[in-house]
Amino acid sequence: MTKIIDHLSQAKSTLFSFEILPPLKGKGIDSLFNEVEPLMEFQPKFIDVTYHREEYIYRKKDNGLLQRISLRKRPGTVGICAALMNRFHVDTVPHLICGGFTKEETESALMDCHFLGIDNILALRGDAIKSENRFSPTEGGNAYASDLIQQIQDLNEGHYLYQEEESSYPTNFCIGAAGYPEKHFEAPNFNSDLKYLKKKVDLGAQFIVTQMFFDNKKYFEFVDKCREIGINVPIIPGLKPLTTKKQLSILPSIFHIDLPDELVEAVENCKSNDDVKKVGVEWAVEQCRELKKANVPCLHFYSMGKSEHITSIAKEVF
Ligand code: FAD
Repeated sequence: MTKIIDHLSQAKSTLFSFEILPPLKGKGIDSLFNEVEPLMEFQPKFIDVTYHREEYIYRKKDNGLLQRISLRKRPGTVGICAALMNRFHVDTVPHLICGGFTKEETESALMDCHFLGIDNILALRGDAIKSENRFSPTEGGNAYASDLIQQIQDLNEGHYLYQEEESSYPTNFCIGAAGYPEKHFEAPNFNSDLKYLKKKVDLGAQFIVTQMFFDNKKYFEFVDKCREIGINVPIIPGLKPLTTKKQLSILPSIFHIDLPDELVEAVENCKSNDDVKKVGVEWAVEQCRELKKANVPCLHFYSMGKSEHITSIAKEVF
């Protein structure tokens, strides 16, 4: 399949792509196909599939003691990528995270991708387990996204773990990394975060996808800062329409982003949920028009299981 970097370099205008979540454990894949189907009209060049870390649940045992169980609520990222490729003939980008994986497990997941013809990976550290305050690396696993990128690059050069000799079957992954126009929340300052972003690129990341933002100025300034320090790969803006009043507080607390005054005021003045959706979609459409005018490589949407809003935006923009 085609690499993201080739899609971007061959594009005559701004591309369209989106990200979906695997279904909850126990749910079928049909609802996901139904979510993706209407978006295919806009010819996405690739679809990202997120990876979800394990969570802990507690079950009472017969002796009354609590048993801690580690559970993945949304498994199946790589399988879903393969199923989407098979069904829609579209490139997919599985997200791979460091948390919850030993390096050997990472290598197995990468080999699965390679054998399935999945040539693109978004390499991420992942967040802390929900019940924990801080991210702590899995024993024998990667600690930062840059370590994961290094591992993928090693495979691209034919270096498999614990094998003395170079393999004559190297992988050929195009690697993406995450970038934060409003800074990653753990970074002590912007420059430090940019320094590690540059490290990811220097180690082999060929494109960057940004955290969502609602003020294009933040994206443009971020791109300028990246260029100043020699980060020259395409920087794909990540976008999400605001669709509920609750998101005014939820999005900043989960994603550590700011919402512009004008948008907050417009949403606060809405009388109904439908009004909020209308305001959110119109805001996103305006963002997209400005970004497209600035010739961004691709508009990447976080669908979060709500493809109808993305469809409304895509109808206006593509
Ligand atoms: P890193 O690049 O490792 O950075 C993490 C922090 O450590 C930053 O503050 C950075 O400045 C700092 N840092 C980096 N390297 C070093 C170093 N060597 N020494 C000291 N400090 C360092 N999460 C999921 O669980 N699943 C997903 O599917 C998923 N998809 C995402 C998609 C996008 C586009 C984005 C933007 C985020 C996504 N996330 C996902 C969230 C992401 O995992 C979190 O934001 C996580 O906290 C950081 O991941 P990272 O890859 O940016 O980490």
